[in-house]
Amino acid sequence: MPDTIAAIATPPGRGGVGVVRVSGANVPAIIAGVLQRLPAPRVATLATFLGAQGEAIDRGLALYFPAPRSYTGEPVLELHGHGGPAVLRLLLARCEELGARLARPGEFTQRAFLNGKLDLAQAESVADLIDAATATAARAAARSLSGAFSREIHALVAALIELRMFTEATLDFPEEEVDFLCAADARGKLAAIEAQVAGVLARARQGALLRDGLTVVLVGRPNVGKSSLLNQLAGDAIAIVTPIAGTTRDAVRSQIEIRGIPLTVIDTAGLRPTDDPIETLGIGRTWAAVERADLALVLIDAAAGEETTDADAAILRELPATLRRLVVHNKIDLAGVDPKIETRVAPAPGDESTPAQRHVFLSAKTGAGVELLREVILDLAGAHEDMEGTFLARERHLHALRAAAGHLRAAALHLEATPPPLELLAEELRSAQTSLAAITGEFTSDDLLGVIFSRFCIGK
Ligand code: GDP
Repeated sequence: MPDTIAAIATPPGRGGVGVVRVSGANVPAIIAGVLQRLPAPRVATLATFLGAQGEAIDRGLALYFPAPRSYTGEPVLELHGHGGPAVLRLLLARCEELGARLARPGEFTQRAFLNGKLDLAQAESVADLIDAATATAARAAARSLSGAFSREIHALVAALIELRMFTEATLDFPEEEVDFLCAADARGKLAAIEAQVAGVLARARQGALLRDGLTVVLVGRPNVGKSSLLNQLAGDAIAIVTPIAGTTRDAVRSQIEIRGIPLTVIDTAGLRPTDDPIETLGIGRTWAAVERADLALVLIDAAAGEETTDADAAILRELPATLRRLVVHNKIDLAGVDPKIETRVAPAPGDESTPAQRHVFLSAKTGAGVELLREVILDLAGAHEDMEGTFLARERHLHALRAAAGHLRAAALHLEATPPPLELLAEELRSAQTSLAAITGEFTSDDLLGVIFSRFCIGK
């Protein structure tokens, strides 16, 4: 068994309860030192937590999970004491004294994965559940954690294994090749697997949207109504993060949500040049986010019937050429126009790449047409009406699913040839299986595991 790890599992700061978590072979020795008596397995037991001189560090609940029925699969001890930083540090130091070392981020979950308690997709969803920015994203992460995503991947892998069995058997008896594959309805089976992969990919894409959200860049001259629009989009304003003075990064970004999808809005007014070195740093980071943005909202004043100003044009030129633009005509209440969406053939300002361009007419003051804007944003992002039933997915999962889809497509082409190149077919099926299995972690390099678990918080 590897060494024993310990960490404060509750967030830093003061709270009602603070938890120290320990996992590894030395747990019984630590129990002997801290509690003196072994608590009954999995029963919350009131105890005094003792220091090296027998003095009380705290009094709280102890939970002992003997191996293998624990989160990590190793002996685990949880000490639920009072949530003060000093008392928790004392408790942690006491565990170190008795043979534990400090855990690295995500190390508990990594051990759970290595001991087969969770597969990789489930382990990732632990971090995603903790990091979920919206309730919908949290529900989707919980679904992945319960194994919904993994089960679909396992079913696909099982179907692929069956198909591979036929292919490999045919390889061994080449004289019967075509009959054998026909009898097994290899084409039908392959088509079914392809369709299933496409379905999972579509839902995973929605999940990735829930997890990573969208980044929208707001462009428009002063007073055109950018802040008013942001507040309207934020709805009850519960989700809006007020810019904190002095933190440039926050001053140009706001976090809101549209139907469960986290939306980061970058106000380009904060992106104008500055002499302040710290601010310049923040602006550099924001531009990096702009590079990966999903959509630019170009605000213009419908009442003035205006187009964009020179300053806007400069910003628009700086935006990545591939970034989609949506023109928002604000203040329709003053212009006496009804809310509407128009598709115009003329390109949006600063965008010569797309021939057709959507224009939304709204009033950020009255809120008329704001719902239309929400629809268009979600539509452009490829979000579906119904986010329930999606599982939270990561870019890594999308990548693996796309790779599997590619191998399946190649396999289908081989299968159509007469006679089918069986070796190539077998190879593509094998690669498709390897790609899918990487999602649940059956074939995953140690380097990748290191990257995945290092992004966890400590104590998880
Ligand atoms: P920003 O400088 O682009 O962030 O613009 P603001 O959101 O601060 O708005 C500037 C002014 O325009 C404020 O007085 C708003 O109340 C007003 N305003 C914004 N949107 C509308 C609108 O749709 N209709 C009307 N009548 N006034 C608006």
